[in-house]
Amino acid sequence: MQKEFGDAFASVEDTTFTAKYRAGCHCQAVQYEVSADPVDAKICHCVVCQTLHGAPMQWAAIFHKRHVRITRGIAQLRFYNSARQQYERILPCKVSCAVCGTLIADEGRKMWLAFPSLFDFGRPPQVPASFTPTCHIFYGMRVMDMHDDLPKWSGHKNKSVLL
Ligand SMILES: [Zn+2]
Ligand SMILES: [Zn+2]
Repeated sequence: MQKEFGDAFASVEDTTFTAKYRAGCHCQAVQYEVSADPVDAKICHCVVCQTLHGAPMQWAAIFHKRHVRITRGIAQLRFYNSARQQYERILPCKVSCAVCGTLIADEGRKMWLAFPSLFDFGRPPQVPASFTPTCHIFYGMRVMDMHDDLPKWSGHKNKSVLL
């Protein structure tokens, strides 16, 4: 199953993989681990995220897929390509749990844009500095103003204008 899911991900048989953080959906049918800190973290204000997440914005922490391994529930993963409006694993796509509906990540070709709200950071949560957002993206589509010092890009980071 792991092989069918994709060679881009770390394997559960990889003995060199050391879990640094663990994440799971609301019902825990889907669980996964990452072996590294995210390479970046962003807040996305795009309309697609607003709609699919039922929230004013989305917080994503970006990992290389080789640092991610699904430890439970690969068969429970559901995929949705928002650009084509198809429930298929056409990358990039949204990944969710078929059982409880939790949105788990945006899966790109090489990267895994994890939703840190699913991570176990302890109680009370101690969010590592590496998960702190470095910018807002698609801020031109915002439904809420953010009063912080982070750069606010109209679209993608470094590929749009600063607002
Ligand atoms: Zn679930
Ligand atoms: Zn978005």
